[in-house]
Amino acid sequence: MEITLAIIKPDAYKNGDSGKIIDRIISEGFSINGMKQIHLSRKEAEGFYEVHRERPFFDELTSFMCSGECIVLSLERENAVLKWREVIGATNPEEAEQGTIRAQFGTNTGSNAVHGSDSSDNGRLESNYFFAQKDLI
Ligand code: ADP
Ligand code: MG
Repeated sequence: MEITLAIIKPDAYKNGDSGKIIDRIISEGFSINGMKQIHLSRKEAEGFYEVHRERPFFDELTSFMCSGECIVLSLERENAVLKWREVIGATNPEEAEQGTIRAQFGTNTGSNAVHGSDSSDNGRLESNYFFAQKDLI
């Protein structure tokens, strides 16, 4: 079994799409090992997206991520990382396949509704960024 981290980002949270996204997570066969509502501080957002620090969109991204509440979820499933990225679709919702979460609930590359880890190692690291072992089922 593999771990991936999902985040329901502030745009989807504000739009009231959290319930529908959580429903999709469950119906796609993920176990939700940890789940919490958070409002990221700028420091937490910058720490989470540290790998993107030198990118031109870093300020926009971290400002957006601390602009409102999020829901973070530690998910477990066979091939969790790839499967979740399949379910969420491409980074730019306009390029995401029909039926994917980003196509359904995202607006543009900045406001794209959800996060997904990009590798098995990062799935674990990102889950550990938000959850202590004792908080995971
Ligand atoms: P993904 O979330 O699909 O793994 P990346 O890791 O490349 O995508 O980027 C992280 C996040 O940064 C994206 O989900 C998106 O919200 C934001 N982002 C990426 N590229 C841009 C861009 N060109 N302009 C604004 N925001 C961006
Ligand atoms: Mg990424």
